[in-house]
Amino acid sequence: MSQVVRKPIALLPDHLVNKIAAGEVVERPSSVVKELVENAIDAGATRIDITIEDGGRTLIKIADNGSGIPADQAPLAFAQHATSKIQNADDLFAIGTMGFRGEALASIASVCHVTMTTRTADEPQGVRLEVHDSKLSAPRPAAAAVGTIIEARDLFYTVPARRKFLRTDATEFGHVHEMLLRVALPNPQIAFTLSHNGRLVQELPATTDHRVRVAEALGKELHDQLLAVHFEERGITVSGFAGQPALARATAKYQYLFLNRRYIRDRSLFHALKEAYRGLIEPQSQPIAVLLIDIDPAQFDINVHPQKTEVRFRDASNVYRAVLAATRETLLATDLTPQVKTSNRFDGPPPATFAPSRTVDSPSTTHQKIADFFKQATPAAPQPRLSFPAPVGERPTPSPIEDPSRITVRQLPELPKVDPPTESESRHLAPADRTLTTKPETPRFVQLFNTYIVAETPDGHGGGSITIIDQHALHERILYEELFARMSRGPLEGQRLLIPEVLPVTPKQVAALETVKPMLTNLGIEVADFDAHSVAVHTFPSLLSKVSPREFLRDLLDKLLELGSKLTAEELLHELLDMASCKAAVKAGYPLSHDEIAALLERKHQVERSSNCPHGRPTTLRLTISDLERQFKRK
Ligand code: ADP
Ligand code: MG
Repeated sequence: MSQVVRKPIALLPDHLVNKIAAGEVVERPSSVVKELVENAIDAGATRIDITIEDGGRTLIKIADNGSGIPADQAPLAFAQHATSKIQNADDLFAIGTMGFRGEALASIASVCHVTMTTRTADEPQGVRLEVHDSKLSAPRPAAAAVGTIIEARDLFYTVPARRKFLRTDATEFGHVHEMLLRVALPNPQIAFTLSHNGRLVQELPATTDHRVRVAEALGKELHDQLLAVHFEERGITVSGFAGQPALARATAKYQYLFLNRRYIRDRSLFHALKEAYRGLIEPQSQPIAVLLIDIDPAQFDINVHPQKTEVRFRDASNVYRAVLAATRETLLATDLTPQVKTSNRFDGPPPATFAPSRTVDSPSTTHQKIADFFKQATPAAPQPRLSFPAPVGERPTPSPIEDPSRITVRQLPELPKVDPPTESESRHLAPADRTLTTKPETPRFVQLFNTYIVAETPDGHGGGSITIIDQHALHERILYEELFARMSRGPLEGQRLLIPEVLPVTPKQVAALETVKPMLTNLGIEVADFDAHSVAVHTFPSLLSKVSPREFLRDLLDKLLELGSKLTAEELLHELLDMASCKAAVKAGYPLSHDEIAALLERKHQVERSSNCPHGRPTTLRLTISDLERQFKRK
C-alpha cells in the first residue's frame, strides 16, 4: 500500500472556495451569460444587450436597464453567498427569482477579470468596481445610465486547465446563442440583442405577442404554423405553442419547456409532449413546442442541479397529465371539425389543421385528387383478403411524394355485411351514428394522403353523409375495444414464442414489472426472469402479432418508470391497452388496400357502440348533405 501523507484539516480560503464553486456554476462562456442575464431579469430589466468577443473567451458583456445596485451595496454583490433575493429558509421554497444562491458573481469573478458599472434611479451617478485576481477595487464614481453593465474578460485565465476544455469560438458562441433562446423565449416583454465580434447576430424586440417572440427566435416561417396552447387545471397552467404535426423534426432540439419561466429539461415531460402527437407524426420524429408551465413554487424543488435545468415535482404525474392534456387538446381543437362544421361564413384561409406529417399537398393537387376520385370510380379489382388487424410491420415505406395513381379509388358493390344492431344496441345509437349499420346503397370510399379514408354514406333516401376517418385513430380504437372486450371475458390466450425474447432490465424495472405482471398475464403476455439482469417474454397475444414483444416490454417499462407508481389499476390497464393498440394500429401515411379499408369500415360500428371512449381524439368526422347544402348556400 502506498504511503498516505496526512495533512492537517484547514478551512479553505475564500478565493479557493469561489474557484471550486465556479467549477459548478461556470462551465463555459454560455454559463456566464446565463447567470448575468438572469441577474438582469431579476433586476426588472426590459432591455438586455449581450456582447461577445471570440466565442466569449476574451469578452462577455451584459448591459441591462434594470434597477441597478445602490453604490454602498455594490461591493457586497461579489461576496460568496451574498444575495438580495432570499432572506430566510421559507423563501427557499417560494423562489420567484431566477437566482437565489448568491454565488454567481463571486464565482465568475474568481475565474476572470470583472468590471461592474451600476446605477440606481435614486443616484445621480453610478459606480464602477473591478475585480482582478479575486481582489475587489475600491468603488469609483462613473457616468452611467440606470441599470448595470458587467464585463467579464479572459475567461478561465486563472484556471488554464478549464480554458483548454473550451471548444472553437463558433461552438462556444453557439452555446451562448442557445442560452439566449432559453431566456428570451419565455420573456417576450424583454428586448434582447446578441452581438459577436462586432456583428449583430440576433435582435429580439420586446413584444406583447408571444407568438411573435417564438417566431423571431426559432424561425419566422413558424409564425403561422404554431397552435396556441391555453390550459389550466388544479393549479397548473400550461401555455405557449405547439407546432403543427407537419413541422415535426428529426431531433427534439426545438422542444422548449419552461417552469415558471425557467428553462427545464425533464424526461417525463418531453415524453408527455411526444405522447400528445401520437398517431399524428412518425414515431421517430419530434414535434416543435414552446410550453410555459406555471405552478406554485411550493409544488416543486428547483434546487436539484447546479445548472438548474432539472426539477423535482411534488406530484410529477399531475404535471405530466397537464402537459399531455394541454397539448392534445390543442391539437384536437385544431381538428378538421371546425372546418367541416363551419357556419355560412367564409373565414379566409383555413385555420391550422392536422396535416399528415408525411405529405402536405398544395390545394391544387388536393383538388386534382378529388376530381380523380369522381372520374375513376370503377369497380374494384379482386384483392386477396387480409386478416384483421391489418399487418403493419411489412408495409413498404411510402414515398414522400404521393403518387396520385396509388390512391385507392374503388366502388364497392356492397359494403361487407354488418349485423343489424340489436334492440338494446340501437338504443345507444344516435341517428347519425346509424348510417353505417343501415344497409347502404352504393357506398364508395377513397384513401387520401395515405392517412384519411373518405367514405360516402347514403341513407337510402337520396341523402346521406360524407365520413372522414383517421385511419390510425380508428384502428387504434378498434383494437383497444377488442382487447378490452376480450380481456373482460377472461384471460387472453398468449401464443408461445419459439424463442423467448430476452430483455436486459434494471432493478427498478424489475420492480415496476412486478406491479403489472398479473395484468400482462391476462393480456396473454408471460414474462419470467431470465437471469440476474434480464427477463424473457415467453408468450405474446396473437392479436398483437405485428408488435415486437421485446420492444413492447421495453417501452412499457420505460413508461411505467416515467409515470411512477401512482397510477390506479384502472389507469394502468388503460396505459397498457393504449400502448398495445397504438403499436399494433396502422400508422398514418400507409397506403391501405381496398380490403383493408373495407375491413376497417366494417369494424367501425364496434367503437361507435362502445359507450366509454378511451381516448380523447375523434376517429371520424361526418359532413351531412344538409351541412353541404348550407355551405353552398342552397339552404
Ligand atoms: P443571486 O442572483 O443568486 O442573488 P448573484 O451572485 O448572481 O447572486 O448576484 C448577487 C446579488 O447582486 C444579487 O442578489 C443582486 O442583488 C445583485 N445583482 C447582480 N446582478 C445584478 C444586476 N444586473 N442588476 C441588479 N442587481 C444585481
Ligand atoms: Mg444571480
